[in-house]
Amino acid sequence: MANEPIGTCGSKLPTLWDRTATSPPRPVPLEGDATTDVAIIGGGLSGLSTAYHLSRANLPSLLLEAGAIGDGASGANTGWWVPSMALIDAPALDAALGVDRARSLRRGLAASARAIPQLARQYRMDCDLSPCGVLYAASTAKTLARISREAEASAAAGSTIRIIDRNGISGHVATDHYVGGVLYADAGMLNPLSFCRGLAAAAVAGGARIHDASPAVGIAPERDGWRIDTPRGSVRARAVVIATGASPLSPWTAARKAGYRLKIAMVASAPFADHGRSILPAGVPFTDMDSFDTFGGGFDRAGRLVMSILPGISANPSPSDLARPYWRKFRQVFPQAPADPGWEFGWFRHEAVPPGRMVGIHEPEPGLLILHGYAGNGITQALHFGERIARSLATEDREAIGIALTPLRPASGADLVSTLANRLLLPLARALVYR
Ligand SMILES: Cc1cc2nc3c(=O)[nH]c(=O)nc-3n(C[C@H](O)[C@H](O)[C@H](O)COP(=O)(O)OP(=O)(O)OC[C@H]3O[C@@H](n4cnc5c(N)ncnc54)[C@H](O)[C@@H]3O)c2cc1C
Repeated sequence: MANEPIGTCGSKLPTLWDRTATSPPRPVPLEGDATTDVAIIGGGLSGLSTAYHLSRANLPSLLLEAGAIGDGASGANTGWWVPSMALIDAPALDAALGVDRARSLRRGLAASARAIPQLARQYRMDCDLSPCGVLYAASTAKTLARISREAEASAAAGSTIRIIDRNGISGHVATDHYVGGVLYADAGMLNPLSFCRGLAAAAVAGGARIHDASPAVGIAPERDGWRIDTPRGSVRARAVVIATGASPLSPWTAARKAGYRLKIAMVASAPFADHGRSILPAGVPFTDMDSFDTFGGGFDRAGRLVMSILPGISANPSPSDLARPYWRKFRQVFPQAPADPGWEFGWFRHEAVPPGRMVGIHEPEPGLLILHGYAGNGITQALHFGERIARSLATEDREAIGIALTPLRPASGADLVSTLANRLLLPLARALVYR
């Protein structure tokens, strides 16, 4: 299959982060039989955060990653962290969780967003961290009111936010396209692959064991827990956390259809000489909250424009072909942008989107936790839920997770909807949105 992953999720197209991240650790596949307290399957941010926080709680854990750490969405995303639930508005979040749990989740996301720079400093992660904030921009007063409601709820839960009106917005986006926005201050940009590798090193320093090139190929209950098989070994554990994201290779087959698997494209340009300041004067990345594709842009520390965009049909496009329609729209909003910024990288990954776009946490059998699906803004959510799952495993109190565990059910038409979306609807939306 053209451009399907070597490991599990993603493509063979080289990413900007493959080129710029800190060196990968030497692969350490699992050989032989191991025993631990908690086995974790999946070396993205969900699994890594769980392993790191278990190590802080002095609980032994062993993480299995099929390919390399950060191979999935976690090491190949845009690298923006924001203490918000992406596409879920304040009333929808309150209705889904109840007001108290929604408030507690917002508090947790605020704490996780603040923890990111602290972790990077504490463990000397060389991850190009830029705590510059992230702007949610609105092109209509109605949208500004909508996003302000969620921002105010986040502020009440401890996030630092600023609502920006029409007078202030041009200091952030050099265009008359937007009427205002919300600036999340405990937010920013980082090199996501370096951050994954840094978090893996922090977990190992705390006592966690991590084995990459070690896909979990089978899982079965045993008398006092679980047994997981890999091609060259096995792990016995009291509890298991499956955090395989959008990968179709979860060893727990029912988890494979629990949500949708949506393809997202990424593009990165050559560095802009002015680091994009003629476009984003304050250096703060922005997302257009009126646009279906979360249109926007941000410049990394080297001055490259790095952005997630809607994918097309081609499995192997050149970076310029991938970026072309997005850039056409970008230049309508920012006519001062150069005609050709020199697109250097284009790649794909998949995001797990649960029904209702609310993260799914399930325990289909005692001691087997499945965590997946952030529908965007997964960096902060993965840190938060990894921490909560570790806390719950340390205390044996599932209430500590902070949201209700839900039954593991197949999302309706999971395979068909994902295939239709990736092959037809997203390319069609790309043609319409980037007109
Ligand atoms: C293109 C793109 C851009 C994004 N941009 C942002 C952003 O800017 N900010 C933000 O907050 N969020 C962003 N997201 C969302 C975010 O990246 C994800 O929500 C988050 O990384 C999911 O983390 P995860 O650990 O759950 O899954 P993943 O990172 O996908 O990790 C799952 C891991 O499990 C491994 N695995 C699978 N099967 C097995 C098996 N059988 N055995 C062992 N290991 C296995 C995989 O190899 C993979 O490494 C973006 C997503 C995409 C796709």
